[in-house]
Amino acid sequence: MQHFPIFLNLRGRTVVLSGGGEAALAKLRLLMKTEATLRVFAAEPCADLRALAAEGRIVLTDRSLQEGDVSGAALFYAADEDGVEDARTAAIADAEGALVNIVDNLEDSEFITPAIVDRDPVTVAIGTEGAAPVLARAIKRDLEERLPPVLGLLAKIGKLFRPAAERLPMGRARRDFWGDYYFDAGPRAYEAEGEDGARAALEDLLDRHLSRGEQAGHVDFVGAGPGDPELLTLKARVALDKADVVIHDRLVAPEILELARREALLVDVGKTGFGPSASQDDINAAIVEHASQGAHVVRLKSGDPTVFGRLDEEIEAVEAAGIDWRIVPGITAASAAIAGLGQSLTKRERNSSVRFMTGHDMKGFAEQDWRALARPGEVAAVYMGKRAARFVQGRLMMHGADPATPVSFVENASRPDQRVVEATLGDMADALADTPLDGPVLTFYGIAPRRARAEATAFEQEMAL
Ligand code: SAH
Repeated sequence: MQHFPIFLNLRGRTVVLSGGGEAALAKLRLLMKTEATLRVFAAEPCADLRALAAEGRIVLTDRSLQEGDVSGAALFYAADEDGVEDARTAAIADAEGALVNIVDNLEDSEFITPAIVDRDPVTVAIGTEGAAPVLARAIKRDLEERLPPVLGLLAKIGKLFRPAAERLPMGRARRDFWGDYYFDAGPRAYEAEGEDGARAALEDLLDRHLSRGEQAGHVDFVGAGPGDPELLTLKARVALDKADVVIHDRLVAPEILELARREALLVDVGKTGFGPSASQDDINAAIVEHASQGAHVVRLKSGDPTVFGRLDEEIEAVEAAGIDWRIVPGITAASAAIAGLGQSLTKRERNSSVRFMTGHDMKGFAEQDWRALARPGEVAAVYMGKRAARFVQGRLMMHGADPATPVSFVENASRPDQRVVEATLGDMADALADTPLDGPVLTFYGIAPRRARAEATAFEQEMAL
């Protein structure tokens, strides 16, 4: 983006134009919408310009622009329709500190004037940096049709009513009220009874919304999936789109947070396995606090919220506060990682069950039913297993597992930087030490990547017997 769009406050400011013909008139038509004082310098002003001066809408000086004429002005337009004269007047304006636009000369202009859809105070500015004026015009036409002409008036009336509407609690209650006004009650009342009707509609509407009582908050426990935004569920997208507050873990990818409603408050509770993080109590308190104020809270957890996500503690806190909740499932890391290996989680004659286990729990490395897992053909997806690799290896070997059993590490499953490290039970800890993995890692015990089948050791052949 070479040109940054901003809205400039021109109340009490001066805008100077040089030029007496059509180019100057075209710019003036736009500028007369503002509250700026408009000074025009033209040796030979056309009749329309003289008429505007007679109406007091512009201040016209019948001579070409000279030094000192632009001093103190905010903006300057060179509309001389003559390259040499434009360059001369632009140089004066530049020296006198105004931002300069030369009509039809993008290259030498400091700013450009966008195409405008005017529903004052609602203004839409459209720019293509000169690349596609046709596109800008088409977009403008489209918006002109889509935004009812009365919108600006409704917005003006609405603006004055904002302090009164503050009696409604912030967040959803207020949003619903304004949504009702702009898209339903407001236009209807205006059509029936004009401006006074729209004003009266606001009063009625506020009474109605106030008597609805406090809007109850709500919590969605939403699975954000393993990272690829396309692996979000449609339900998750809708929830993000409606959220007032999104409370998320560190593992949730930025591309997914971008999908949250623009006004939503994003709260990072950065829980990592080991690093500094908000305590679970703090997280519970944050969820309850926002939802108690009537907010629609999305508690966004990586993968599936029901897998190693301490979900129950959060649900209990929400229930205790009498707040409504639901779970929106997501794709868990094991599903994404196994897809990355090109394998399936269960397979006839290999494994008829699969374990989801954690490498560590609150007390340290997590104990499992190692004896059962050590049997041939068992498969386990180990979450948070990086640091526990040597521990898991030791326990399984101790319980008689075959050191040739395949082990796969999948880092950043489903993300562009996904990596797979192949190992066996016998060398898994060393393999991890040789290839340090910084991202989240899912460890598969008992599964090798499909493409490596050829070397997949005697293990699988043994299983096939
Ligand atoms: N609820 C999550 C798991 C949270 S525990 C889920 O269902 O996926 C955090 C662990 O999940 C990480 O330590 C890692 O083992 C695993 N994990 C999460 N995202 C991952 C990813 N994109 N790739 C590999 N492992 C991932």
